[in-house]
Amino acid sequence: MRYASVALDIPTRQLDGTFSYAVPDELADAGVTTGATVLVSFSRRLAVGYVMAVSTEPPEGVDPTRVLPVEQLLAPPAFDDAAARVATWMAREYACPLCEAVRPFLAPGQKVRVTRASDDAPWELVCERAGAVDARWAALEPAANDYVPPRTASRQRAVIEALREGPQRVSELSATIPGAASAVSALERRGVVAVTRRRELRGTGDTTLSSASAPRPERLTAGQLEALAAIDEARAGARGDVVLVDGVTGSGKTEVYLAAIERALAAGRGALVLVPEISLTAQTVGRFRSRFGDEVAVLHSRLSAGERFDQWDLVRAGRARVVVGARSALFAPLADPGLIIIDEEHEGSYKQDNSPRYHAREVAAELARERGAALVLGSATPSLEALARCREGAFRGARWVRVEMPERPAGSVLPRVTVVDMAEQFRSGGRSIFSAPLVEALRGVVERREKAVLMLNRRGFANFLMCRECGCVPECPHCSTALTYHERGHMLACHTCGRSWPVRAYPDPSTTCPNCGSRYLAAFGVGTQRVEDELSMLLPADVEVIRMDADTTRAKGAHQRLLEQFDAAECAVLVGTQMIAKGLDFPEVTLVGVINADTMLKLPDFRAAERTYDLLEQVAGRAGRGRRPGEVVVQTYWASHPAMRAVSAHDRALFLEPELAERAEASYPPYSRLSNVVAWGRSERDVRAATADLADALRGRVGTTPGWEVLGPADCARARAKDQVRRHVMVKAPPGADVGPVLKECVASLGRRAGINIAVDVDAYDMM
Ligand code: ADP
Ligand code: ZN
Ligand code: ZN
Repeated sequence: MRYASVALDIPTRQLDGTFSYAVPDELADAGVTTGATVLVSFSRRLAVGYVMAVSTEPPEGVDPTRVLPVEQLLAPPAFDDAAARVATWMAREYACPLCEAVRPFLAPGQKVRVTRASDDAPWELVCERAGAVDARWAALEPAANDYVPPRTASRQRAVIEALREGPQRVSELSATIPGAASAVSALERRGVVAVTRRRELRGTGDTTLSSASAPRPERLTAGQLEALAAIDEARAGARGDVVLVDGVTGSGKTEVYLAAIERALAAGRGALVLVPEISLTAQTVGRFRSRFGDEVAVLHSRLSAGERFDQWDLVRAGRARVVVGARSALFAPLADPGLIIIDEEHEGSYKQDNSPRYHAREVAAELARERGAALVLGSATPSLEALARCREGAFRGARWVRVEMPERPAGSVLPRVTVVDMAEQFRSGGRSIFSAPLVEALRGVVERREKAVLMLNRRGFANFLMCRECGCVPECPHCSTALTYHERGHMLACHTCGRSWPVRAYPDPSTTCPNCGSRYLAAFGVGTQRVEDELSMLLPADVEVIRMDADTTRAKGAHQRLLEQFDAAECAVLVGTQMIAKGLDFPEVTLVGVINADTMLKLPDFRAAERTYDLLEQVAGRAGRGRRPGEVVVQTYWASHPAMRAVSAHDRALFLEPELAERAEASYPPYSRLSNVVAWGRSERDVRAATADLADALRGRVGTTPGWEVLGPADCARARAKDQVRRHVMVKAPPGADVGPVLKECVASLGRRAGINIAVDVDAYDMM
């Protein structure tokens, strides 16, 4: 008899961990082993569970005859023992129920619900897909010429008739000839028909672009060779060593990935490649496909559940050894990855914003360790966390090395960057969204019949007050967090410590700027629509203005269509939010304008400056990709900010040094781990009570432990959402601290509270 440790898919904090079940021999033979989805009974009810491990030893301290058996196999293994260990690690690290950490490893489309056709039929999992498309193709063999079907075999005759036109899919034959499948089988046994399995991939549509081919460069640059050597060494080390490829935009990072994957494949291993969802374009995928062809599986959320399942299943079957996808591709069932690559490693989208709230970089590091793989992180603007680990040289037993690629191979030069001080523009009478230098640069683009990209920095809501004369934003005197403005009550609030002031009382009785006394202290914010409108008035009618934002890209394929429209235009301006900053590679773009570089700087989020710097650097990398030189105009109310100065001088140190000093001073990451626990519900009183109790429990638990600090409770910056009140407690801990179990324990101590939801976010990215 074998025994399985099963994670029940009942996501409550009270019922976490695994439970033991016996595996009868016939179920073991049927495939009940690690990674399988099974049906078990728990508290006299049926429950879906996932097998985390199998042992021949009965569970300790339990009478083996009293261990309940697994009732039924629901789905074949989706993950192996190493993946099971990573899931267990995730549940602990991110303080989430084990079943939630397991779910990303399951086959796409698999649900937790079961149904059955009748009372005595076996249970089946509900799956959101039209079954795997396993297209069996039937074709006539030469023997068909001499074969005469029995007179009664009308189906066989019909099948042979149909196949005289050429090979067909068995499922298509079945659709037109009832019972065709069994006829095909009969014919196959007689050698009349040959059946081959040809996998059909449903509409990934990524090999059609002509630009989607990756010609191999004649020679790799010195930086590329150095990066490859470091990656080889890390892979040979087989303990999860990390190489940070720190290369400017266009320095040939993708080429490094391609060459490194080639070597991993040659060594008989596979590769996982993660790119941000937004960069997972036909262009990107095409570069991998053209180099590795059918070895590539593509996984991303825009595929239908069936499409995703097909790709996932190709990987599980060992037929695709290169997986390219967004964050969740990390969990693909690739048996032996030698390489895990995360492109644009600094991207916030690698942090998942619902449970399990993992960061792909951290899970990848754990996975690389489990698999004996190398982890490659690539970015032009690496995260401060990754840079810090490379400075240390090691993290959790793995080596971290950084390789710089400071130059572009083709000799194209970095664009010229002009920072425009908008407060100065305002003082000298400029009231337009467009500064004089930007208008001039746009006119130049129109004259030369080139293209421009204008980016508007927008993150959901822009609810702070800003002085239009000096750019000052009122801050909390206790936390140096920008105060957010709440129309209701005309209040300014700090979302770190919870203090708030009526606008009139901060800092003196009038609504004037605390810095310069100007009357122009006003709510700030401008939308893409308005930029588009004003642009149309400014430019001649024959210039196409294309707007790309959440509204215009909602429909499936709209994103790609707008890009194609921009590509095809003779002279055009693309106006958009952050989504235009990445991945675009249009040689004719000679001007990139940033309408408002600093709105993000004012968010109550310690990463605001880093995000601004990253974004500006990325967007600047969009200009001058071709032969013509590029120009970047950055409009800001904060021209002296280190991020602005670093971008205009192409010198990261100008940003990094003051930023790191500030983070160290305030003990923010990478000098600490900062976690956020958010509670929300309809009753403000209950939410307040829950967060107060939680803060007490946390303070009681960590007490005066050095490096630990509990902040709050306070209202969240998004203090209300969908009629629910949101409050949070933040916890700082030392960099290596084991935060997850502490948070899990304290949250569990609150018990179940009706109407209260709690989200634990370890190493939070979203502070709102
Ligand atoms: P990144 O990913 O760093 O932005 P890419 O890999 O996209 O850079 O490379 C930028 C451009 O340079 C691409 O057109 C690529 O084909 C080209 N390229 C990359 N490596 C080389 C090389 N060694 N020699 C010549 N061209 C190269
Ligand atoms: Zn002012
Ligand atoms: Zn404060």
